Amino acid sequence: MTFEPDLRAQVSPDRPARAPGVSVIIPFYNEERSVDELLARLKAVADASTHDFEIICVNDGSADGTWARLSAWAPRWKALKLIDLSRNFGKEIALMAGLDRARGGAVVLMDSDLQHPPETIAQFVDLWQQGHDVVVAVRRDRSADGKIRTTASRAFYRLFNMLSETPISNQEGDFRLMDRRVVDAVRRMRERSRFMKGIYAWVGFGSIGVEFDAPSRKHGASSFSPRRLFNLAFDGILSFSTIPLRLGVLLGSLVAAGATVAGVYYWLKTLILGVDVPGFASLIVATLLLGGLILAKLGLVGLYIGRIYEEVKGRPLYVVRRTETDVEGPQAQVPLSVVTDKPAEAAE
Ligand code: UDP
Ligand code: MG
Repeated sequence: MTFEPDLRAQVSPDRPARAPGVSVIIPFYNEERSVDELLARLKAVADASTHDFEIICVNDGSADGTWARLSAWAPRWKALKLIDLSRNFGKEIALMAGLDRARGGAVVLMDSDLQHPPETIAQFVDLWQQGHDVVVAVRRDRSADGKIRTTASRAFYRLFNMLSETPISNQEGDFRLMDRRVVDAVRRMRERSRFMKGIYAWVGFGSIGVEFDAPSRKHGASSFSPRRLFNLAFDGILSFSTIPLRLGVLLGSLVAAGATVAGVYYWLKTLILGVDVPGFASLIVATLLLGGLILAKLGLVGLYIGRIYEEVKGRPLYVVRRTETDVEGPQAQVPLSVVTDKPAEAAE
């Protein structure tokens, strides 16, 4: 079951500036131990607010009892909407599934691992009401990240901003509020490899920062390993820049120009001084260098073509297995204690 895109959402000029309601979208990947605390704290925030809240929890193919815990909550809190994806699609796409379903005038994106304090949302909503289209949480203290990660991330942002037309900031994370107009713009970008920071920067709109303290992860470990982060960074650059392609043209032209100069030199030298002893070393070096450059350049072109291939297939971004309305079947009738005892089975 997939959701039809809301076509009204594509035209926003005649909407009121601030449509009512706040949607909170939370992707879950193996977070069964965080569900209860997170939802309890969120409920306190929602109950204290004058705005209507809808909480969209997207289960991104968790292998643990996340879905069982979420569906145990559904009958207790009407504002809760659940989406169970058919497998693990990755955080960015899980967020997209939530964005497609969100109906609020503002949408908050947050992690489910308790690193994003729900209480900050109240501040977000105040600033949104004051007219800011995007409110971004900025981590006050990043020392927990470690030296290597900080240096690598700084290098990445420098490289990205050199190559991309729309600069991104290393201060801004995924914890943010977006006005309906911004959400509609983001939803129109349906590309498969989703580099969210680049997408936010591309759609524009002014943003304002709110400082917050991110506690370290309470349960489990981050699913973004250095390797996954590297791939994300690489993907981000390929998605938002064609400069690498142009660099290849530049490099190729330089080598060709050098070769022409060398050719003229050797031609004149032969004319004036006669035939020299053949230079095997220079020949092999030139051949290897050129061969290497051509292969590297070909590979780079291949990377872009691979991405074109992914896009033209036009597959849906995600597949939904079930939602909270499917919870009210036999599964929800299982007593709560049984659900907690055997979370993995209940999730099937
Ligand atoms: N997440 C997800 N799908 C994935 C990986 C992560 O939905 O494939 C969610 C995860 O449950 C969490 C958020 O994305 O709510 C951030 O993940 P994580 O804490 O692992 O990343 P980090 O905070 O280290 O960047
Ligand atoms: Mg985290």
